[in-house]
Amino acid sequence: MTMHTKTLKQLSQGLQTGEYSSQELTLAYLNRIQQYSALNSFISVTEAQAIAAAKQADALLTAGNAPLLTGIPMAHKDIFCTQGVKTSCGSKMLDNFIAPYNATVVDNLNAAGMVSLGKLNMDEFAMGSSNETSFYGTAYNPWADNTVPGGSSGGSAAAVAARLIPAATGTDTGGSIRQPAAFCGITGLKPTYGRVSRYGMIAYASSLDQGGPMTQTAEDAALMLQAMAGFDPKDSTSAQQDVPNYSTNLNNSLQDLKIGLPKEFFDEGLNNDMATAIETAVNEYKQMGAEIIEVSMPHLKLAIPAYYVIAPAECSANLQRMDGVRFGHRCDNPEDLNDLYIRSRGEGFGTEVKRRILVGTYALSAGYYDAHYIKAQKIRRLITEDFTKALESVDVIMGPVTPTPAFGIGEKTADPIEMYLADIYTIAINLAGLPAMSIPAGFIDNKPVGLQIIGNYFAEAKLLNVAHQYQQVTNWHQQTPKGFE
Ligand code: GLN
Repeated sequence: MTMHTKTLKQLSQGLQTGEYSSQELTLAYLNRIQQYSALNSFISVTEAQAIAAAKQADALLTAGNAPLLTGIPMAHKDIFCTQGVKTSCGSKMLDNFIAPYNATVVDNLNAAGMVSLGKLNMDEFAMGSSNETSFYGTAYNPWADNTVPGGSSGGSAAAVAARLIPAATGTDTGGSIRQPAAFCGITGLKPTYGRVSRYGMIAYASSLDQGGPMTQTAEDAALMLQAMAGFDPKDSTSAQQDVPNYSTNLNNSLQDLKIGLPKEFFDEGLNNDMATAIETAVNEYKQMGAEIIEVSMPHLKLAIPAYYVIAPAECSANLQRMDGVRFGHRCDNPEDLNDLYIRSRGEGFGTEVKRRILVGTYALSAGYYDAHYIKAQKIRRLITEDFTKALESVDVIMGPVTPTPAFGIGEKTADPIEMYLADIYTIAINLAGLPAMSIPAGFIDNKPVGLQIIGNYFAEAKLLNVAHQYQQVTNWHQQTPKGFE
C-alpha cells in the first residue's frame, strides 16, 4: 500500500514504529500537492512551516510517548486563523490578511502533534455549495471532470479525496462539511453546535457555524474530533461538557439500533438513483440488526427559507468588520470615510457575499425584522422540535446528504435559488444544532453518494459507532478516484 492511501490510524502506527519519519511523510504529501495542483484545492501551501513542524514531530516520536496524531500531515480550511499565515476565507477582502493568532482548533491540532501543510480552498466566507464563489477559482472534484467538489469546504473534500492529505478541517453552517464530503466520497462530521470552539474561525452565521473533521474513515474522524473538541473559555458558545473517548465505542453492536427515516427526505425532490442508493445503505443496517422506523418532520420544507433569512442576517452583522480600516482590502486613494467603506467593500466582496449582506440587512431593518427575522426564528424552533421529537423514539435519523450527486461546474451559478436547494437535506440540522455525518455509500455514474446520519445533541460517539460499523462491511470509503491512486 502506498503511503498516501493510508488512514490516520495506519499512518500513526507507521510513525510510532519508525517505519517512516514525519519528514518523509510530509515531503511525500507536499509532492502530491504539487503534482496535483490543477485540482486547485489549496490556497496556500506552507512548505517551510510544515517541514519545521515535521522535524519537531520526529524529535517527539524518537523521544517516545508522542500523542497518537504526532507527525501526521493535514491541512486547514482557509477559514481558520493561522498565526503568521495568510487566512483569506476564500475572499479578495482577506487576500492580504496574515492572521495574528491561531484559531483554537488550529492550536488543538498543533498540540496533538499534527503537521499542517497549508490552507484549503473554499467558497467566499463559506457562502456557497460548490466552491465556485471562491476568489481563487473553484476547486475540482477529483471523481469526475468538470464537476464541483461541493462547498463551502470544497478544497478540504477534494484534497482528502485525491489523497493529497489524509485529513482536513472544515466548517458547516448549512451543510458545508457534509455536502462536499458526499460529493467527493469521503467521511465528514459536523459536531453538535458548541462542541468545537469557534474562536478564530472566521464567522459566517455565528449561531449555525461549527467546525469538524473531514477524513477517509469514521475511525479517523473520531481521532480528529478527539483533538478538536472541548470547552474553550475564549468562545462563549462553546459547551461546558466533557469530551468522551470517541474511539472506544466504535465496535459496539448495532443490534436493535433504531433508525428513523423521515418521510419528507424521500419525496419528489430526491433523484431516483439517489433514493435507491440510500435504501441499499439502510438495508445494510437492517442486516446488522437495526430496526427501521418511519418518522415525520412536517416543518422541514421551511428550513431553506428560514435559513436564508437567519444566515444572511447574521452574516450582514459579522461582515461589517471588513471595512478597509483595520485589516483586509482597502481601496486606493479614498476621498473620505464613506468612499473608503463603499469602495473597499465593493471591491473586496464577491457577488454572492454582497447578495447575502443586502438580504440580511433588509431582513433586520425596522419594519421587516418582525415580518422576516422573528418569523424565521419561530420556524427554527419548530424544526428543532421536529427533530427532538423524532429522536425520542429513534437512536439516529438517516437519509441522503444531497438530492443528486456532484453537479457540473457552472450548472447552478446562474440561479442562486437552484444552488440553495442543493442543501435541502443538510440545512435543517444546523438550525437545530444537532450533530450529523456524511459517509460514502456508493456511486451513481461514477460519482460518490453520501449517506447522512443525524444524532441527538452530543451523540457524536454514537454517530461514529454507526458510521464505523457500516465501513466494516462496505468499502466505498476506500475507493480512490482514477488518476489519483
Ligand atoms: N451552502 C450553504 C450556504 O451557502 C451552506 C454553507 C455552509 O455550510 N457554510 O450558506
